[in-house]
Amino acid sequence: MSRAYNFSPGPAALPEAVLRQAQAEMLEYRDAGASIVEISHRGPEFLEVARRTEADLRTLLSIPDDYAVIFTAGGATTVQALLPLNFAAPGQAADYVVTGHWGKTALKQVAPVIDARIAASSEGGGFRDIPSRAKWMLSADAAYVHVTANETIHGVEFRDIPSVGDVPLIADFSSSIASEPLDISRFGAIYAGAQKNLGPVGIAVLIVRRDLLQRAGQPRAPIFDYRAQLEAESMLNTPPSWNWYMLGLTVKWMLDEGGVAEFAAQNARKAALLYAAIDGSGGFYRNEVATDARSRMNVPFFLHDESLNDAFLAQAREAGLISLKGHRVLGGMRASIYNAMPEAGVQALADFMKDFQQRNG
Ligand SMILES: *Cc1c(COP(=O)(O)O)cnc(C)c1O
Repeated sequence: MSRAYNFSPGPAALPEAVLRQAQAEMLEYRDAGASIVEISHRGPEFLEVARRTEADLRTLLSIPDDYAVIFTAGGATTVQALLPLNFAAPGQAADYVVTGHWGKTALKQVAPVIDARIAASSEGGGFRDIPSRAKWMLSADAAYVHVTANETIHGVEFRDIPSVGDVPLIADFSSSIASEPLDISRFGAIYAGAQKNLGPVGIAVLIVRRDLLQRAGQPRAPIFDYRAQLEAESMLNTPPSWNWYMLGLTVKWMLDEGGVAEFAAQNARKAALLYAAIDGSGGFYRNEVATDARSRMNVPFFLHDESLNDAFLAQAREAGLISLKGHRVLGGMRASIYNAMPEAGVQALADFMKDFQQRNG
């Protein structure tokens, strides 16, 4: 079997060039005499990987100097849980704008330790839209405002994240980081689990304005302290070195391919192609998200006749298109089309959808 076009939401497809390089370096990393995953994270080979990865990520995302980059284990969910411990005083509130499943998760993670307020939510409408900024109920004394840039399950994405004044804006970019240019200076912090658009699962990235790391936060173990992590160069304990190395290869690949401006153009074309296939199907397929809030990264869609779902998935697989089953929360289908998905893959999906419709319409 050859490699299929993989529409998995995460862990997601990695660029073939990255997998090939990892394969080539698997048994012996350069002249280390061992694999990168078998040697000390404090040795010269891994320290070079770590520093080069940060430098490349800074170039790729145009990260300003007054922002620190922290690499962490535990995924995006752990970052969510640690936000109030690091950035909110005991008893201080934080405002959450909830536009889908992951915004709810972020809220759930902090509810035990902070007065987490729902500043706005689109749950009443089934998370198909983004509440307009005029309706956000923000509090001036909040520690931060949290938003989810792209909702991976509901397929809802901010086109422009509104300003929130002086309170730091913290955004979960797990499924859209590096998909288009971003002005990081507008944020107090952004974070992302790597397994959507940055590399393999097992590592997350937190990009945080350095002054926020001076906040006292709440009592916490050193391992949960981002200031301590930064001082230890994200190596307070043994870091996920293999994942870090793979993230480094993926970031380098994105730079080699032309950087975020190039991916933004590709991603816009890919999303336009797929939404056109859905909207042009005369109702055979449908996407329920408000047009101006549709995600460029995750495209949930439904067949008009749900009894065709199993046949759709089986035949897609035969056509070399895998991982299209929707999340259990929504059902239906979902195509995740991150940076590593080539335009030819989306074209193949659109062609298959048309063909399937002709045979079953
Ligand atoms: C996948 C995802 C998460 C959870 O990531 P983990 O690494 O599994 O903790 C959080 N937020 C968003 C937007 C995601 O897509």
